[in-house]
Amino acid sequence: MNVRNKLLSIPLYMQILLGMIIGIIIGIIALYVRAESFIGNWIAPWGQLFIRLLQLIAIPLIFATLVKGVTGLKDVGKFSKLGTRTLLIYLCLITVSVSFGIGMGLAVRPGALVDREIVADLQETYRNAISEKAAAAEQTQEQGPLNFLNDIVPNNIVSAASNNSSILQVIFFAILFAVAILLIPQEKARPVIDFFDGLNEVILRMVGFIIQLAPIGVTALMAGLVIDFRGDVSVFSALALYALTVAVAMFVIMFAFYPLVIKLFGRKTGVKRFLRAMYPVQLFAFTTSSSAVTLPVTMKAVEEELGVSKEVSSFVLPVGMTVNMDGTSCYQAIAILFIAQVLGIDLSFFQVLTVLFMTILSSIGTPGIPGGTYVILAMVLTSVGIPAEGLALIIGIDRPLDMLRTSVNVTGDAAVACMIDQK
Ligand code: ASP
Repeated sequence: MNVRNKLLSIPLYMQILLGMIIGIIIGIIALYVRAESFIGNWIAPWGQLFIRLLQLIAIPLIFATLVKGVTGLKDVGKFSKLGTRTLLIYLCLITVSVSFGIGMGLAVRPGALVDREIVADLQETYRNAISEKAAAAEQTQEQGPLNFLNDIVPNNIVSAASNNSSILQVIFFAILFAVAILLIPQEKARPVIDFFDGLNEVILRMVGFIIQLAPIGVTALMAGLVIDFRGDVSVFSALALYALTVAVAMFVIMFAFYPLVIKLFGRKTGVKRFLRAMYPVQLFAFTTSSSAVTLPVTMKAVEEELGVSKEVSSFVLPVGMTVNMDGTSCYQAIAILFIAQVLGIDLSFFQVLTVLFMTILSSIGTPGIPGGTYVILAMVLTSVGIPAEGLALIIGIDRPLDMLRTSVNVTGDAAVACMIDQK
């Protein structure tokens, strides 16, 4: 086996971790030999290219995933009864998870550990992007309380889709489009749904290509970061605290919030039985980092161990896999606040609300694949006015957090299946 094949046989998450370590080493060496400009000119641009690729695929991904998710509610009869109830429960759980994430991010403030001098340097680097954001926020506040509706409803879908900060407008159009598909006669809807099924596969394959490049992207981003931070250790303690905050939040949702939900609304199920049935599913999700790949395992456990009817599970779980991502949405909230804190961006109450709203909607558009959230996060950051390059801060250590949030995502879907199947 040659070196290239050997490298490719290492699992992707190990390659990403290796990339992170190599990037840090390259950065430290460059600091020592005073080769900062070499890194800036020849290494860091590869990291920016990786982030550009993530941004490139975001709009098609959100569109295709949402249309596929909503049209999964095919039968209108189902949509009106089971569908509405399922979607409402999913929405409630996501809202609680995001609010909890925001609470954790604001209470722990992991980004505040970064040395103030470094923050000032970073602000200088991203000055243009940050001041554009401040101006936009001010303008929004001046335009009256209902102006946010204009940020949701586009007047031109092509121009909304041409701007990475108009994610809400694209989501609005996608949902309207998908609901309309549900309401037209089946024989007319079929080809459109099939087309979007195929399109979704194509886009997911493209996301797969891009995520394969993550090790190279992470190496370049980390090397660039070490230069930006001048090797300052406070950044790494902040990252450690951030990872811990996410991990604690995930454990609380998985082992306190869901059991409570099951206790209150899943009478037939029982907390112990639920946790026991979920354990292998969580482990599978943890190792694969993909709720899509875990779906058959979740279905089997929910039907065989928890006695949920096939009718409910075959509807609630596939829809949940796309729509309901409590782990991802809680994580996204913490990540956005962390990046804002590191870049010294003080978010006003109104902006925190925007983060809440955006995160709820965007987690729905996140595909259930490893690292699916990067693409979406890059876009949410831009739309709340935080430079997408901030993603570089967290991508290197993301894999273990992805494993945890995927376990939460699948547990949430199973919990909702138990709540729905109460007759
Ligand atoms: N890996 C997650 C999932 O499959 C998605 C993400 O948060 O990246 O559920």
